Amino acid sequence: MAEKLSAVKGMNDIAAPESAHWEWLEAKVRALMARYAYRNIRTPIVEPTGLFVRGLGEVTDIVEKEMYSFEDRLNGEQLTLRPEATAGVVRAVVEHNMLYDGPKRLYYFGPMFRHERPQRGRYRQFHQIGVEALGFAGPDVDAEQIAMACDLWAELGLTDVTLEINSLGQIAERNQHRQALIAYLEQHQDQLDEDAKRRLYSNPLRILDTKNPAMQALVEAAPKLMDYLGEESLAHFNRLRALLDAQGIAYRVNPRLVRGMDYYNLSVFEFVTTSLGAQGTVCAGGRYDGLIAQIGGKAAPAVGWALGVERILELLKAQNLLPAAPVPDAYAIIPQAEVLPQVLQTLRALRQTGVQVQMHATGTDSYGSMKSQFKKADASGARYALIFGDSEVAAGQVAVKPLRAEGVSLHEQTLQPLASVPTWAAMLLPA
Ligand code: ATP
Ligand code: MG
Repeated sequence: MAEKLSAVKGMNDIAAPESAHWEWLEAKVRALMARYAYRNIRTPIVEPTGLFVRGLGEVTDIVEKEMYSFEDRLNGEQLTLRPEATAGVVRAVVEHNMLYDGPKRLYYFGPMFRHERPQRGRYRQFHQIGVEALGFAGPDVDAEQIAMACDLWAELGLTDVTLEINSLGQIAERNQHRQALIAYLEQHQDQLDEDAKRRLYSNPLRILDTKNPAMQALVEAAPKLMDYLGEESLAHFNRLRALLDAQGIAYRVNPRLVRGMDYYNLSVFEFVTTSLGAQGTVCAGGRYDGLIAQIGGKAAPAVGWALGVERILELLKAQNLLPAAPVPDAYAIIPQAEVLPQVLQTLRALRQTGVQVQMHATGTDSYGSMKSQFKKADASGARYALIFGDSEVAAGQVAVKPLRAEGVSLHEQTLQPLASVPTWAAMLLPA
């Protein structure tokens, strides 16, 4: 036998029964997006590397060390597997001039790629669901997007997800704070770790985000960006807070909340949980009013968030909130292959009415004993067996037998006519 191949480290296959959880979550998200009038956008997985360098910022974790980049072997173009979707969405919006007739509310689903050390909740191919509202200055849509996420947690039954918000102000304000921060950190050079030293002049704000316990006291006492915000930025933030309060949405202001990408300004937020260990951020976002112009479009404000699908599913699992594996409504038992034409015709008619039916098939010409077929029917989880016995089929009928007590409207075996499936099909649906 040929040598077995395995998937790339940190990249997962998702198959049944887990894939049913993904479909279930995606369906809930689609319905949520529709209720908020957000529309789906699908952009390419591969983008020019320059899009992320320009969009995310050169001194970000992603651009510095996490991108899967390669050269197009035909034309030498530098390409990257998208590490996030906002830059691509903005590129598409600019490229197709999508804001010509007003602002847009968009959402996406899909795989993202980051070269990180794989661990629980952290993969190299992972999936995000995200929203972007482009052309809106907020804070009304900021509050709308935060509410959408809260609605999703409520609908999924998730508790233990808390909201943290902050304001990053505008560039001029950040620059003033940055100078004060650098001066402060320079005075405490001896307490900085390697990462912080490296970022001291390139991206000092990110030092505040450090997870190094030895530096907590230092960053705790550092100059706070909030104290450098001007009147307008503060007003934007306070209006957002008032709109969250008005909706009864609880939050904590975390003055040290910064985001990984350079493109953020004003509102930033994260939803965090204590149930997932170190990988506790399940959803994160904020305003990126400068990004559209940075990517070559006509300046327009925008806001968005992205949630980590694997982390949400893990949280749902930890809280025992995942739905049971799907089961068919009925399982078709076929004593003799001779009746196959009638079986296939009947099952198809049933499926056309919405009944979920699994047909007994063994992969060989032999269908096996009734006993072994009933065993399979039981194992499938189906609530009914459809028994296509010779004499029943000859009489134009099929026997319908309930296999369990719960969820069935029919408790006794009955005979049903093959010629008029729609008259009895609904009976097979969950009671
Ligand atoms: P972290 O601090 O955990 O690295 P991040 O700030 O890099 O997160 P974002 O770029 O904001 O994450 O992405 C939004 C969400 O996507 C995160 O909150 C998280 O739920 C999820 N996410 C990010 N990176 C990964 C990954 N490598 N594997 C799984 N999920 C991820
Ligand atoms: Mg990260």
